[in-house]
Amino acid sequence: MCGNCCSGPEGYVLVDDSEAAAFAAHLGISVPEFIERYTRMTSAGRSLIEKTTSFGLDCVFLDREKIPGKAVCGLYELRPRQCRTWPFWKSLLVSRKRWELAGRMCPGIGKGPLFDPAEIARRRDTVDI
Ligand code: SF4
Repeated sequence: MCGNCCSGPEGYVLVDDSEAAAFAAHLGISVPEFIERYTRMTSAGRSLIEKTTSFGLDCVFLDREKIPGKAVCGLYELRPRQCRTWPFWKSLLVSRKRWELAGRMCPGIGKGPLFDPAEIARRRDTVDI
C-alpha cells in the first residue's frame, strides 16, 4: 500500500480486452466508455491513463484518500495482470542488478513471502514486460 509501483514518471499499465470489459462492468459503464475515459494507446499497447499528483504520475485508479497515509488500488480485486505479477517481470528478472534497482523503489522486494521458482516463472510468463 505504498503506491510506488503505481506512480512515478510516465509509464504504462497494460489492459487487454477482457480486463477492460471487467473494469467497465465493475464501474457500470460500457466498454467503449471505459476505453475512452480511462485508457490511452501506447507503443506497448493499451494502457490505463495517469493523473498528475504531488507524487508524480499516479495510475488513474490509485486511491490516496481511502486510507490515510496509504495508497490503494481502486480496482484491487480486478487489477490488471501487469499489476498482479509485479515484481516478477521479465525485465526485472533479467539480472540481479536490475532486480536490486527495482528494490530501491519497492519496499516489498526482498522482504515479502518466498515464492517457489515455478510460481515465479508462471508470473514472469503471464505478461511480456
Ligand atoms: S490498476 Fe491498481 S495496482 Fe495497477 S497500477 Fe493502477 S492502482 Fe496500481
